Amino acid sequence: LLDQSFVTLATNDSYVKGALVLGSSLQQSGTTRKLTALITPQVSDPMRNTLEKVFDEVILVDILDSGDSAHLALLKRPELGITLTKLHCWELTQFSKCVFMDADTMVSGLFTIRNHRTHCQTPTHLYNACHLLMHSLSGADQGLLNTFFSSWATTDMNKHLPFIYNLSSTSVYSYLPAFKAFGSNTKVVHFLGSTKPWNYTYDSRTKSVEGNISDPKIVHPEFLNMWWDTYTVNILPLLEQQEVDEENT
Ligand code: UDP
Ligand code: MN
Repeated sequence: LLDQSFVTLATNDSYVKGALVLGSSLQQSGTTRKLTALITPQVSDPMRNTLEKVFDEVILVDILDSGDSAHLALLKRPELGITLTKLHCWELTQFSKCVFMDADTMVSGLFTIRNHRTHCQTPTHLYNACHLLMHSLSGADQGLLNTFFSSWATTDMNKHLPFIYNLSSTSVYSYLPAFKAFGSNTKVVHFLGSTKPWNYTYDSRTKSVEGNISDPKIVHPEFLNMWWDTYTVNILPLLEQQEVDEENT
């Protein structure tokens, strides 16, 4: 099992916060697989050192950028060009299987290892991994991967993961009936969109996130609060310890 790994990517210190929460949530789920973080040179040393406390492997890679600024400008997400950096995942040949997860995802408290094992033993792992990869947008990684795995979307529906493996934190409430039936089994929450959990201001006293009242993440803050709870309880102490360590050297 140690030749299998969850893999994420962070190209800057903000996304490292997400990666740390994801890594911590995977640990809490009791995973027996390795945790690997891909980072680029922009990540600061303190954040890199903290990543090394949570992940088994922290690997420095070059930025791969789609350079497709025209498409990305249309999407109003110019930063997504560098999401192609996740393609370095395919170079991790020390692992027989990798599941790539965005740094803005976390596994929920209801993730169980039994399901997870069954899931990883099926021959569908690559497709599952690709499903997690392919949430994104053209000009970013999705366009490229959809072209490469062009029959993926239509051939075998059995190879598609159920939506609870990639539950969007904002669109949940647009498919409420499905969420009511299956939402409590949520495996992976995905905070997709331009405002990430770490962009909010969190009040640790009231344990609530401040924000615009029309923001669906604020109207239904369950997942956002879950992210911030993990960050406050498991990650902040590591970051504070890192500061102390640096002052002492
Ligand atoms: N990413 C990164 N730095 C960036 C943008 C993206 O490291 O500036 C990585 C990170 O792992 C992120 C993934 O690429 O989760 C995909 O981007 P994002 O999650 O922002 O896209 P969305 O899910 O909102 O479409
Ligand atoms: Mn994402």
